[in-house]
Amino acid sequence: MSDTGGESELDPASKALWLIAFRRQHLQHRNNLLVKARDISLRAQPSDTAPPQDNINVEELEAIQAELEELSKREDMLRRSGSLQKDPQDVIPQDKLRRDSDWVKCDSCSLVVQTVVRHRVTNTTWFMCGIFSAVGCLFGCCLLPFLLNYFKDVSHYCPNCKAKIRNVPRF
Ligand SMILES: [Zn+2]
Repeated sequence: MSDTGGESELDPASKALWLIAFRRQHLQHRNNLLVKARDISLRAQPSDTAPPQDNINVEELEAIQAELEELSKREDMLRRSGSLQKDPQDVIPQDKLRRDSDWVKCDSCSLVVQTVVRHRVTNTTWFMCGIFSAVGCLFGCCLLPFLLNYFKDVSHYCPNCKAKIRNVPRF
């Protein structure tokens, strides 16, 4: 399989997911605004008279909630269909994970996902700092292991359920 497309080019499923996330953010922002506006108008009005704006706000809030639920459903469907479309050749066993993000099947949510990589300071990082100091890399150079991901362990996480998939030690 030749790969002619640039890596910056998103596949349609990722693009749709991105649009959903964008729309959701917008809706949540609007939702917060409406709630805040309603609180203010409720406070401004005497408590025995219902504010005239309230009904409109409630309707819009309900519409936003409905659309948010709809977006969640679509997102879920996209993620599942996306996992089925993923070329099985691209999915590797979890024990083959190295330091870079890769496609694996998550044990927790059973989806095929591209792992999210985080770097962790471990005893090895401290040990390398000690080595650097011992060979004369003083005046800040011994702190290099803390600044460079090269000297840290790598943990792979699932972007969907946030479960930790695998830890890859530096040495
Ligand atoms: Zn997962």
